[in-house]
Amino acid sequence: MSRFFSEKYSRLTPYTPGEQPRDRRFVKLNTNESPYAPSPKAREYAAKAAQKLQLYCDPDCTALTAKLGGLYGIGTENILFTNGSDEALNFAFMAFCDDSHPAVFPDITYGFYPVFADLNGVPYEKIPLAEDFTVNVEDYLGVGKTVFLANPNAPTGIALPLSAIERIVASNPGSIVIIDEAYVDFGAESAVTLIDKYDNLIVTQTFSKSRSLAGGRLGMALACPALIRDLNTVKYSTNPYNVNSVTQAAGLGALEDAEYFAKNCAEIIENRAYLTGNLQKLGFLTTDSSTNFVFARHPDLDGGRLYLALKERGVLVRHFTLSRIRDYNRITVGTREQLDILLGHIKDILEEAHENC
Ligand code: PMP
Repeated sequence: MSRFFSEKYSRLTPYTPGEQPRDRRFVKLNTNESPYAPSPKAREYAAKAAQKLQLYCDPDCTALTAKLGGLYGIGTENILFTNGSDEALNFAFMAFCDDSHPAVFPDITYGFYPVFADLNGVPYEKIPLAEDFTVNVEDYLGVGKTVFLANPNAPTGIALPLSAIERIVASNPGSIVIIDEAYVDFGAESAVTLIDKYDNLIVTQTFSKSRSLAGGRLGMALACPALIRDLNTVKYSTNPYNVNSVTQAAGLGALEDAEYFAKNCAEIIENRAYLTGNLQKLGFLTTDSSTNFVFARHPDLDGGRLYLALKERGVLVRHFTLSRIRDYNRITVGTREQLDILLGHIKDILEEAHENC
């Protein structure tokens, strides 16, 4: 830290993103990216947009907003596009949290929530997940704080039904509830259908996973018009050009290619069942995932050791050191070929571990 760094940030512990190695080719199953390239239409539109990069982008993402509104059956005034859904989440912390509106979220969830809270000087409470890693809905009823819930949750992969989300939103009319749906397209129920009914609900989604645009950085917040206006006040006070023109074009192409999106989601769901089944055959315990990753632990194998042994063999998965989950690894659902490589290495590692016992 330099001697010039602002006192208010000096104690920040930044978010640690998953490894993005450039030095060696890994089978990369550690950051929940899509194993598939973006839709051909997304790539075509992006290439065209790149020819006009001398111009500023459309700060209102007009074409993208109109297309998404039509697809989701919501108004353009219900939508704000952001630089990844991380930016939507940060805007929500900025707009709807302060000393009198502290944040609340589970103890095991997306690791960026406490970082955004600290960045914005927001006090927060962590509510422990149940023993089986499910969210105990009762804990959030009338909690009276700004609620951040990933649904499905990460890194557990477990989803709450829409009825449970609605109970939480309905029981907190004086507080904002943010439902982070980064993984919703892989089998959970979206709360977007509730944004007209509740003026305290914000849903965030991303193009990073199911639409293969993680590098493009495109996310969105969906909510009633008044909340979107508040988020826009923050956006226009931070970076009006938050979504660059190449990304806007790629996003539009991705939305226009509904068939490609549906096919890829279906394939991931099928591969998730394949991965889960094979891990279970090898003795792993897995959570019930509605996402593009599987959260698994083996009773005979330390989570950190498995992570390292896989890395040595050229396969990257995500290991967290948090005490409640350090026996686990989070494994992104890749292609069948990637999963077969992973499973082959896991078999070898297990055999070696048993020989050494
Ligand atoms: N929410 C959750 C639960 C996530 O896992 C991620 C991905 N790291 C995000 C939000 C943010 O994704 P992005 O900024 O790429 O949209």
